[in-house]
Amino acid sequence: MKQITLQKRCVTCKTEKPATTEYWYYKKRGKHALDSECKVCRCKRMKEYNSRSEVQEKRRKRQKEYNKKYVTRPKIREIKREQRRKRYTRPEIRKKVRDQQKEYYDRPDVKKRILERAKERYQNKITHTRQDETA
Ligand SMILES: [Zn+2]
Repeated sequence: MKQITLQKRCVTCKTEKPATTEYWYYKKRGKHALDSECKVCRCKRMKEYNSRSEVQEKRRKRQKEYNKKYVTRPKIREIKREQRRKRYTRPEIRKKVRDQQKEYYDRPDVKKRILERAKERYQNKITHTRQDETA
């Protein structure tokens, strides 16, 4: 028995392809609820359209404007600040930060560095004091 698959002709490349969403994009108001152009043609067209410099420029500009407007909106800034504040005041986050700090300062290399820095500071102080005395 021959299986009949509905064929649909693409308006652009004039090729007949099975009328399934494998070959066509879904389009609610199209014939068989499919696009009049096959996926290959549609993709090519979109690619061509998107690669046009004025389109890219326009998109970049729009994105920039949007970012500017969005980020600088006082309300958004307020919300972000609030989010940060809330996050930090959450007990589990505070504990986590504390633990991380503790872990960091417990590291031998960090301990050594801190000790060395303290020694350095101490020595500097001595030299300064001596200089002060001689002056
Ligand atoms: Zn086509």
